[in-house]
Amino acid sequence: MSLLRNDPPPLFRPPAEAESVIVRVAFGCPHPACAFCGMYRSGPYRPRDAADVSAEIRAAAREQPGARRVFLADGDALRLGFDRLAAVLGELAAAFPALARVNSYANGSSILALGREGLASLRARRLDTLYMGLESGDPAVLRRMGKAETVDGMVEAGRLAREAGLKMSVIVLLGLGGPDGSAAHARATAEALNRMQPRLLSALRVIPVPGTPLARWEEEGAFRRLSEFEAVRELRDLAAALTLEGTVFRANHVSNVLPVEARFPRDRAVLLASLDALLDSGRLDATRPAPRPPWL
Ligand code: SF4
Repeated sequence: MSLLRNDPPPLFRPPAEAESVIVRVAFGCPHPACAFCGMYRSGPYRPRDAADVSAEIRAAAREQPGARRVFLADGDALRLGFDRLAAVLGELAAAFPALARVNSYANGSSILALGREGLASLRARRLDTLYMGLESGDPAVLRRMGKAETVDGMVEAGRLAREAGLKMSVIVLLGLGGPDGSAAHARATAEALNRMQPRLLSALRVIPVPGTPLARWEEEGAFRRLSEFEAVRELRDLAAALTLEGTVFRANHVSNVLPVEARFPRDRAVLLASLDALLDSGRLDATRPAPRPPWL
């Protein structure tokens, strides 16, 4: 299916933003090159016309005048820069009197470009949670996957945002290093997360999306998904190496072999014991990847 010239590209938002008012301030992702990612493939990143954004905010305010949460789409609203973001946050505050928080996807380089003062100033205007895809703390994995960000850059961005009072919600991808790179991927990812100390952490299992380079690599035998057993073992390796001081950890996406939700450090020992019991149970398939979710 091709998109007609004036069709808006498909919209994506984190599951946690299901109840939020969605305002599109840009289309696409600035670096739509990650081999595993099937989002934002219908065109380059482009800021949306300010008048269109204002009209969308006014229309949303008429429909949901009491809204408290707004999500700024698409892939990296922070790329718009301080002045434009401050203007949008000002319009939102005027349109939604009960507005409590504005959230967005953000790439590490966009966070860094705003600097500590810029981030703190946006926080004061009710910017609240930034969703950032770390994917892996292993630089070799990120390079292979074509991710434009560096591990150190994303760690620094996460720390800067946290110091500015923003919440970081970080996403990592189980299985991105394949079976051979699993242990290194888990170890390096835990190290990066320990340096960053995000408030929220989500671990998703990587599933090659049809049409992406990763799906092609899998067909060609150049990438192999983890078996059920390997995926749970990698999750266990990751959790065992985490020294998070106040993080809500979720691996309850439909892609995961089993749903996990825990608070670190409180639930760490219980989580590790339950993962160990599952690994010892003989119930996990060690020969094949877990089945694809039905939506793929
Ligand atoms: S994973 Fe993020 S940065 Fe990479 S292509 Fe997808 S939206 Fe863009």
